[in-house]
Amino acid sequence: MGKNIRQLLNNEKGFSLIIVGISMVFLLGIVGMISDFGNIMLTRQKLINAVDSGALAGSLVLNVNQISPDIEAKAMEKVHQVCIMNGATENEVFVEIVDRTISVSATKTVTMIFLKIFGIENHQVSAQATALTGGIDSYLGIAPLSIKDQPLTYGEISSLKFGLPDSPGNFGALALAGKGASNYKNNLINGFSQEVSIGEILMTEPGNMSGPTDGIDERINKCLDGCTYDNFKPGCPKALIIPMFDNSLQGRDEIIITNFAVFFVDRAISESDEIMGYFVRMASNGTVNPSRYNSDLYSARLIK
Ligand SMILES: [Zn+2]
Repeated sequence: MGKNIRQLLNNEKGFSLIIVGISMVFLLGIVGMISDFGNIMLTRQKLINAVDSGALAGSLVLNVNQISPDIEAKAMEKVHQVCIMNGATENEVFVEIVDRTISVSATKTVTMIFLKIFGIENHQVSAQATALTGGIDSYLGIAPLSIKDQPLTYGEISSLKFGLPDSPGNFGALALAGKGASNYKNNLINGFSQEVSIGEILMTEPGNMSGPTDGIDERINKCLDGCTYDNFKPGCPKALIIPMFDNSLQGRDEIIITNFAVFFVDRAISESDEIMGYFVRMASNGTVNPSRYNSDLYSARLIK
């Protein structure tokens, strides 16, 4: 054996073989170390995504008038559910709720493969996220309809009748960036192309905009996900975002937006100028205003 090695060392080819061998071991070590570090980084990134998504989803549950232990439990359950969906396990996740702010932290143990040689069996990674919820003050894509600011009934089929929107159950047409039937119809199908905010003034449509069937039907046909009022994708075309107002319309042709309602449209009845649907709540993209909670159109954002 010793003789063989001495022969190898004496022989140029053999010497190279030894160098290659040593280099291989060294390279394998580097690869092993990179794989352990890579695993740590990957696990950490996944954990960050999990707590971020969990905090956001849980925070949306807190968009209610009154926080109760029941609501808190639901929010926590949601956090765990979303974190688990994103690769965390139940006992790795810790949730804390203070008012409408939800904090989620998670710790995961990564088992080392190469670093074990140096006695490092595992490494702990952790991530933390805090989110809060609130109403959305601005929206891009409102429907050219307006209703009086009023307490709404959810989960029940409702009818919106074209007429003076001052009276509950009615809607009035809006002239968004222009008057006329074709502009109105286009806004009904696609949503208004400009962002509007609470406090903003919008013009009402003076023309007779009865018979909204065409636009509504086209709008309904744009939903390709078979959405229903109690199970729909956020941003579904069937969810109309309708500005609400509180000012008196007598002799006026403008409304001041006080809020946004979400009306999940079911069908239009042209004979009676009615739109049938359900008032719903919808989480959407938008800037969160935490002082306006319990809004029909709401969102959540990470603050940490
Ligand atoms: Zn849909």
